[in-house]
Amino acid sequence: MEEAFAYFNLCTSCNTCYITCPIYKVKKLQSFAPRSRITIAGLIAQNRIDINSSKRLVESIFSCVLCDMCHNVCPSGVDIPKTVKATRKYLVNQKLSPSGVNSIIESIKKYKNIFSLDNEDRLDWTEEVENIIKDKINKKTEIAFYVGCQQSFKGSLYMMPESMVKILDKARIDFTLLGGEEWCCGNPAFLVGDRSDEIKEIAKHNVEKMENLGVKKVIMTCPGCYKAWKFIYPELLGIKKLPFEIVHSTEFIFDLIKTNKIEIAQKYENILGYQDPCDLARISGIFEEPRDIIKSIPQVKIVELEDNRQKATCCGGGGLCKASYEPIASEIASNKIDEFVNAGVETLLTACPACYDNFASSMNDRKDIQLKDIHELIVKLLK
Ligand code: SF4
Ligand code: SF4
Repeated sequence: MEEAFAYFNLCTSCNTCYITCPIYKVKKLQSFAPRSRITIAGLIAQNRIDINSSKRLVESIFSCVLCDMCHNVCPSGVDIPKTVKATRKYLVNQKLSPSGVNSIIESIKKYKNIFSLDNEDRLDWTEEVENIIKDKINKKTEIAFYVGCQQSFKGSLYMMPESMVKILDKARIDFTLLGGEEWCCGNPAFLVGDRSDEIKEIAKHNVEKMENLGVKKVIMTCPGCYKAWKFIYPELLGIKKLPFEIVHSTEFIFDLIKTNKIEIAQKYENILGYQDPCDLARISGIFEEPRDIIKSIPQVKIVELEDNRQKATCCGGGGLCKASYEPIASEIASNKIDEFVNAGVETLLTACPACYDNFASSMNDRKDIQLKDIHELIVKLLK
């Protein structure tokens, strides 16, 4: 909490961050503004507030989607998301965190996945691609596909890994999957500032499994997993860099297109719009590869929102907000869908399981727009 106090002192109360916050836009209450989260943290650090007595303050801290937008605009360099994570850690330790968050973190530690399911069932999504993956589990080879919890266990997201392995197969790329030996990346724990030995062990396990298979490159379709492995694991494990490369699937797929290993041959008539996932775009700096893939579709029509790339706003599905405050996440998604429709978009493309999932639950049988995962669309248009 000391860091939080330092940021509390750094804030000049200029209010530049207010209008950027997706939670503040929905809640319209001062306690949900980014600056207020710094104030809450600072007051806790100074022992000047009894957080026990205010559900709203706990909601303010745990509803933050950790989109990094406020940090991006703050003229004083106040790292609000970092402070939110430190405050969450304090609230978890004080047993004041929402139950939805607690059960996810406990599940990661006990079951190695976020759903308290048997980790051996991680390959349930492979039914339709059994012929492709049958000899790939724990195979010694240079390319690995790390699937992630959401896509391994949530039926509505199976099309993402299914499409990814179909693309790898089409490009004749040999690859390996860890199956039941794949453990959660730990990202939800990092979102509450948990870098405990138990979480370190999980990261260590994942890295060692890849090393033992002689892997040189790990592909991930989930931006949260990508961020965890690429930026948090080296720091967490006290190493300069991982012994293999981490790439997002959109980087990998665009490379396959550039090197003529796959070809998008078919047209897609609808006007496309792309949602920049916060963890992939503003936080990890991958803006162009997903767009380059989309632009490889013959005669494609693509529309950008006014706020795109670095300035793109969150879908509402990040930062564990949805785990406890689903109506907030849904309202943000619903407003964002309207924004795409008003810009003339007919098909909204995502490159993140959390974005897809949050948009999907807010579509409500809408007829004016379709939702598609980028991998799912591309695999259908391949030669
Ligand atoms: S990280 Fe995003 S949601 Fe959290 S306070 Fe900043 S702008 Fe708001
Ligand atoms: S933009 Fe930065 S300095 Fe200004 S109110 Fe927000 S946190 Fe404080």
